[in-house]
Amino acid sequence: MESALTARDRVGVQDFVLLENYNSEATFIENLRRRFRENLIYTYIGSVLVSVNPYKELEIYSKQQMERYRGVSFYEISPHIYAISDNTYRAMRTERRDQCILISGESGAGKTEASKKILLYFAVTCPTNNHMVTLGDRLLQSNPVLEAFGNAKTLRNDNSSRFGKYMDIQFDFKGATMGGHILNYLLEKSRVVHQNHGERNFHIFYQLLDGGDDDLLNTLNLERNPHSYRYLVKGSCARVSSISDKNNWRVVRKALDVIGFTAEEVQKLLNIIASVLHLGNTLFGEGEEGETYIITETQLSNAAKLLGVDGSALKEALTHKKLTAKGEEMISPLNFEQAVSARDALAKAVYGRTFNWLVEKINQSLALKEEIYHSSKDASVIGLLDIYGFEVLQHNSFEQFCINYCNEKLQQLFIELTLRSEQEEYETEGIAWETVQYFDNKIICDLIEEKHKGIISILDEECLRPGETCDISFLEKLEDIVGGHPHFITHKLANGKTRRVMSREEFRLLHYAGEVNYNVNGFLDKNNDLLNRNLKEVMCQSENQILSHCFRREEVIDQKRPEMAASQFKNSLMKLMEILMSKEPSYVRCIKPNDTKQPGRFDEVLVRHQVKYLGLMENLRVRRAGFAYRRRFEAFLQRYKPLCPETWPNWNGKLADGVSALVNHLGYKPEEYKLGRSKIFIRFPKTLFATEDALEA
Ligand code: ATP
Ligand code: MG
Repeated sequence: MESALTARDRVGVQDFVLLENYNSEATFIENLRRRFRENLIYTYIGSVLVSVNPYKELEIYSKQQMERYRGVSFYEISPHIYAISDNTYRAMRTERRDQCILISGESGAGKTEASKKILLYFAVTCPTNNHMVTLGDRLLQSNPVLEAFGNAKTLRNDNSSRFGKYMDIQFDFKGATMGGHILNYLLEKSRVVHQNHGERNFHIFYQLLDGGDDDLLNTLNLERNPHSYRYLVKGSCARVSSISDKNNWRVVRKALDVIGFTAEEVQKLLNIIASVLHLGNTLFGEGEEGETYIITETQLSNAAKLLGVDGSALKEALTHKKLTAKGEEMISPLNFEQAVSARDALAKAVYGRTFNWLVEKINQSLALKEEIYHSSKDASVIGLLDIYGFEVLQHNSFEQFCINYCNEKLQQLFIELTLRSEQEEYETEGIAWETVQYFDNKIICDLIEEKHKGIISILDEECLRPGETCDISFLEKLEDIVGGHPHFITHKLANGKTRRVMSREEFRLLHYAGEVNYNVNGFLDKNNDLLNRNLKEVMCQSENQILSHCFRREEVIDQKRPEMAASQFKNSLMKLMEILMSKEPSYVRCIKPNDTKQPGRFDEVLVRHQVKYLGLMENLRVRRAGFAYRRRFEAFLQRYKPLCPETWPNWNGKLADGVSALVNHLGYKPEEYKLGRSKIFIRFPKTLFATEDALEA
């Protein structure tokens, strides 16, 4: 038989806290690599699960596997996403406290796959409430729908989520699933009208064209070939070998039925999707006097028909702007560029709002029925957060700024909750706490979000300021107001000289996870997210109920400026933080092993970078600050009692005394361990290893 030591050498340790040299990043990464080589993609840092994307199907997600993890304690079995799921579920049941699982990692690291596995675990293993036999199905089927409309092929991930998602799963007092609710964050709408090279628009467009039957495409006036649509070919890769749009179309169609969309609703939804494609093919010409007109009348009338609006009104609204000056309405023509951007703004607004409607509909389908709600006051919740990870692209814009800000907030939460819960555990167990030094990123959050002085406030002000404003004037404002901040840099040096490595259009933020240069081009437009008033007027008269629901009359009448994009995002994040703070968190940290989506390839540089910005080393240090290992008395006795004649086979005295007898017998020195009220804390991994080895001998 292989000795315990060599097994450990080969497959590494299943919990990083057991690493002797826990301060060494190299040791940490070597442990990950060894496990990855053996297809052991999961490893713990205490109760945090680290997951490395295998980029291949592993036989570890079957129903039998789910059964293995049910009700089994964390340390007795190999690390798994099911263990986190089960543990969270049991904590919710026994402590009667709401839980949440926060999944993070960069694009392609496996967050969405992890969240789906957690959901599947609950859907399969939890009892279902009689009233809602199909709830599990509906919860599961919400994924393909949201992915079709909110995911796209990017350079980094063939199925990249382009929105953030938080989902609550509600359980009744018996632990049966009862309902669900989804919150969505900042869909990357710009993708509707533009894609970078090698990327695609949202999946649904290609699925509809490839999978929709001839009759359907006829009613939508669509051709099957995606290359016929300008909005689908900006990235020059309408077809992707790893994706079957046709099959996925079938899955999505079925999912829409299961969730409870009526045939009429589906038709209206598809009308909207098709209308976006026709809008994209609506082209403008420029007259001799600089006036703009539409040269593709058929496309325009197709779009109008599918949007359920009057063709000539739409035409007028795409080429003219309505202004109110001194109480009088005036119509002014748009120039060519303005018309193009009005058209694109309409496509983005239509798609973005329809996506929100879709989430609303799904929520209605997952919602608690009134009568159940009233009979289950003791309901509890498990929240699942699958949100964009820290992002550094070649060219970083407004979207990356928002995404990275979101990650700063999550890091804040992590610091607060991890340190707090660690501290609480020492306190409840009556053990002295030793503080750990860590970088508190509050200073960066403030730089971004502080009222009046933060970057978002400055951006809003610049958008509202009358007169000539532009992205560069925003940058200059930033330099004036936050120029001296230690986490903010532009090409200007303090001594008045310029930093050559930076362009005049960039600012750099020193995020907790690394430096990112943001190009201010487009910041104002994206933050404004404006749709001309006359386009709104046309849309709120739509005969398509989805659209008349999405474009409200009040919006046109009410002249108040709606909240701008970044502020809206900031406020939704604040709410999210509140939701998460009220729950007990578990973490899944996902790592992408290589940039080529290949199985078996472990790119050390790439992994090291992620270990750094996921804060894993810090996490480990916090966890190890006091004691490497802790275990409840019962569990410790149960496992090691064969090593001590006094406790074997049954110990009938107090648990603490049994553990005392056991560790005395094993020769633990006083500095090696402490007994809390319900748990034993072991300071060094080697102590535990020696005990484990004794068990195997
Ligand atoms: P994004 O931020 O772009 O949405 P993500 O972190 O959600 O990225 P996923 O879509 O979950 O990434 O994963 C990317 C791909 O990696 C999946 O489509 C799948 O092919 C593969 N993958 C991820 N996790 C696993 C897993 N546990 N087993 C097998 N393959 C996986
Ligand atoms: Mg994803």
